[in-house]
Amino acid sequence: MIPKLEIFSQGEEIVTGQTVDTNAAWLSQQAVPLGFMVTRHTAVGDKLDDLVVLLREIASRAECCLCTGGLGPTSDDLTSEAVAKAFDLPLVFDPIAFEQIQQFFNQRQQPMPAANRKQAMLPKGAERLDNTLGTAPGFALWHQNCWLVFLPGVPSEMRQLFSEKVKPTLNQSFNLQPHTLVSIKTFGLGESLIQQRLEEITLPETVQLGFRASQHDVQTKLLFPPNFDSSARHALVTKLRNQLGEAVFAIDTTSEATGDLVTTLDQLMTRAGQTLAVVETISQGLLAGLCTGSVWLLESTYQQSLPRLLKKLGITESTENLSRLAQTIAFTTAEASGADYVLVQLYDGSFQALQDKTQATRLHTVLFTKGQCYCLEHTVVGIAKHKQHRAALLAVDMLRRYLQFGRL
Ligand code: ATP
Ligand code: MG
Repeated sequence: MIPKLEIFSQGEEIVTGQTVDTNAAWLSQQAVPLGFMVTRHTAVGDKLDDLVVLLREIASRAECCLCTGGLGPTSDDLTSEAVAKAFDLPLVFDPIAFEQIQQFFNQRQQPMPAANRKQAMLPKGAERLDNTLGTAPGFALWHQNCWLVFLPGVPSEMRQLFSEKVKPTLNQSFNLQPHTLVSIKTFGLGESLIQQRLEEITLPETVQLGFRASQHDVQTKLLFPPNFDSSARHALVTKLRNQLGEAVFAIDTTSEATGDLVTTLDQLMTRAGQTLAVVETISQGLLAGLCTGSVWLLESTYQQSLPRLLKKLGITESTENLSRLAQTIAFTTAEASGADYVLVQLYDGSFQALQDKTQATRLHTVLFTKGQCYCLEHTVVGIAKHKQHRAALLAVDMLRRYLQFGRL
């Protein structure tokens, strides 16, 4: 029997739509590959009686309940009280939780408001889940056949607590048969093109194929059932990867998340121990912004006007050919900065034309390294911000491809 799991988000702001319930989505993404059957997501506002009814219902129909939010110190944070009422448990003062809350304020050299004492009151018999990022500890308890886990609403705290304190214990409490989720992450190929390229590969019936597209990447997801032979899984993933070629920048598995395109570039640049200079026009500093915090980003230049950029760099060459001009800019920047790689990005048309969402913009991106220039042209569409974001990512991807595959 696959254990049933329900996710329950607490807070008026979730129900009214002011906060999008990303906690439930994230927890589902964790729970499904672990081997749970996620049967429901529920959101309830700050009403004690509604919470009590829901907790009793979930405890009677599911084997596991993950609840987020409502652990804070304010009057709208009702989770502990609701648990106490639902399962007829007194709230007990937990001195260790209290000390942790006091420490949180001491470290920030702030007095602890009296209201925070409430966060140290836990339902009797509950296991405290220490929260090192915020004030509210989580807690967990059994009620009959249901294991109920209560986590803070703040996503970063919730994720850390779940990953460190909850996930490792679930295997002991439940007979879980984990699925394996593999995500092949690509940049530069659309969903439909990916699907077309993968049509040649026949997938076993038990493997579920899905796609998720965002501005940052397209993920091809494969969900393997429990006990699927691991060498057959590797062989299949390799087949798909080869079919998608240089567009693949990373592969995630259930046990390993690799991060986004910029993380991959960061790893490649750090490993190579090399440096980069960027010259941006269309993306207005966004390209450098994506590389914030990286030691390998040596310098960045942004100019909205091309004549000013050329003046700044002391370039007198006049040509209509933007790819050629980008090469001259790259060469000049490489000489002046001493960077191992230079990325230069120019575009056809004016900054005003860029603002026009009905007009496509033609990009000329150049990568200069070891005396060689590589040029790519792309067309970006949509509102200005979208075109700018895309332009920055295309430049990041150009360098990523060169470092990862030695070609574009
Ligand atoms: P706090 O100590 O901050 O009060 P809490 O555990 O009581 O923590 P909430 O007050 O419910 O949590 O939420 C705190 C913040 O966390 C919210 O303002 C919201 O920004 C975010 N948050 C809460 N629930 C969710 C959710 N389900 N999905 C995404 N974000 C959430
Ligand atoms: Mg709160």
